[in-house]
Amino acid sequence: MSLPGAHLKSLDYSVVQQCMHCGLCLPTCPTYDATKIERNSPRGRISLMRAIADDRLEVSKAFADEMYFCLGCLACMTACPAGVNYAELFEHARAEAEASGVLASPRRSLIRSLAIHWLFGNLNRLQTVGRVLRLYQQLGLQNLVRGSGVLKLLPKRLRELEAMTPEIQPYFSAELIPAVTAPVGPARYRVAMLTGCAQDLIFSDMNRDTVEVLARNGCEVITPAEQHCCGSLHAHNGEWEAAQQLARKQIDQFPPEQFDAIISNAGGCGSHLKHYHKLLADDPVYSRRALLWDQKVKDIHEWLMQIGIEAPKNGVPDAVVTYHESCHLCHGQKITTQPRQLLRSIPNLQLVELPESNWCCGSAGIYNLIQPEMANDLLDRKLKHIKTTGATVVATGNPGCLLQLINGAKQQCFPLRVVHPVTLLAEAYRRP
Ligand code: SF4
Ligand code: SF4
Repeated sequence: MSLPGAHLKSLDYSVVQQCMHCGLCLPTCPTYDATKIERNSPRGRISLMRAIADDRLEVSKAFADEMYFCLGCLACMTACPAGVNYAELFEHARAEAEASGVLASPRRSLIRSLAIHWLFGNLNRLQTVGRVLRLYQQLGLQNLVRGSGVLKLLPKRLRELEAMTPEIQPYFSAELIPAVTAPVGPARYRVAMLTGCAQDLIFSDMNRDTVEVLARNGCEVITPAEQHCCGSLHAHNGEWEAAQQLARKQIDQFPPEQFDAIISNAGGCGSHLKHYHKLLADDPVYSRRALLWDQKVKDIHEWLMQIGIEAPKNGVPDAVVTYHESCHLCHGQKITTQPRQLLRSIPNLQLVELPESNWCCGSAGIYNLIQPEMANDLLDRKLKHIKTTGATVVATGNPGCLLQLINGAKQQCFPLRVVHPVTLLAEAYRRP
């Protein structure tokens, strides 16, 4: 375990002292917008982090709680005229909170070691749990349990969590996608495709669509059956060393020298995957390769618009679609125009702009699990805006947002299709 204060102190001081307290980020911060309390704003949080780095403040439970009240949505980074790297500060602040042990309790430690280390440290285990859950759902046991009323005996929070259980796909990515997919027509590029962790269980069809679209546009796609978690979950939750270990595994599995691009179709993972060099900066073996890795990682929308896509001849019949921006795609990766360009390339698709399209939907990694009240308020706000557009389809480029919006629409009996933009493109290509 690192010494308390070591994470924030290890940061380059230019990052720690960059905030000039102008407050321009405040109106863009969902937690400040909700409470109007300075401590819940980017400026307030940065002041706390700096005080710890300067030894003027000790890491306390109040500090740690504040870091976990922050969504990590990075809207403040987009707004900041001084270029404050809030993403880096935030990850180190959460690592600081974990290293200090101020939040430790036997229950929390057990949940974290089961979920973050045991389950997401080894995707074979995650898939096994996924298979059991799939069987439970396919045999109708889930509906039986839900209909029996037995869930009413559970505490409210457990009932809410049960209602959020995602539907597991009939097939995982490795059953839908070959290890090597040949391009349609002459090969233009050789790319690797990252199928993700939970995404592989819940949105494997979206991974298949991504590979199909890549192949259709001249890419040979390498998709190994057994992959690792990218470590984004670990880095965002203060597990710095686990995140470093997973980054090394990714670089070993997908040597960046061998690919024109390493493709992610998940905004949250992509944002983390593009910063392996920072994560491994002190690693004498991996730091140089991590630099090349960062250059090769491309979000799917970014890559498709970069290489130029074949325009689909047929489209989605009379679909009115709106686009919700994943925070880590728009604020983390600054990818805003490419998903819209992709959607506009589909004939008959009418794209309607969503008010506050880049305001967090409340998913934010596992935020909706640990801060349900704030997450639900943000979800309600997002769904209200979606309703004003008249769209029947909402497209978004991150599995966390997809799941959050699917669950929200289901709870409100709102007939809304929630889909990745690349799925709409794949469907358009498939249409005769
Ligand atoms: S990351 Fe989001 S919630 Fe956190 S301070 Fe920045 S804008 Fe606010
Ligand atoms: S983070 Fe940026 S926008 Fe916010 S107060 Fe500091 S300098 Fe201003």
